[in-house]
Amino acid sequence: MLGKLTRWLRMLGYNVKYSSTLEDAQLIKIAEKERRILLTRDLELYRQATAKGLDTFYIETRAEEEKLAEVAARFRIKLDMDMARSRCPNCNVKVKPIFKERIVDKVEKSTYAHYDEFWQCPECKQVYWQGAHWKKIRETLEMAKENLERLEPED
Ligand SMILES: [Zn+2]
Repeated sequence: MLGKLTRWLRMLGYNVKYSSTLEDAQLIKIAEKERRILLTRDLELYRQATAKGLDTFYIETRAEEEKLAEVAARFRIKLDMDMARSRCPNCNVKVKPIFKERIVDKVEKSTYAHYDEFWQCPECKQVYWQGAHWKKIRETLEMAKENLERLEPED
């Protein structure tokens, strides 16, 4: 049940596969084959994967900013949004900058009037921009950074 975390990590630029339906054995097989790190909230899966020598991370916390901090601490992930690296949270494909004239019919008039930078997912064609929701994104990342500092006290 790490769907939200998956979306965050993709937006931060990381290549993340997600499944809530695959069997444990299949997840382990995919992680092995594609040399992926396995993130899970399932203790049994965590034990199995670890026993197989996979790089596995068990996520205990519930709040999104805490999960992000834990993953950042373990894997040295940068908690800064950079659209040049960002992936579509739905498709895990890198978003591309797009001229605003090309998305005129895809966003609200007010959005079009207010913003000049837009990105699009080449897969699902979803358009992204740093709109009002961006404040919330920044806040969550700031909270995650504060959590991270607590996890990694300076010495
Ligand atoms: Zn997409």
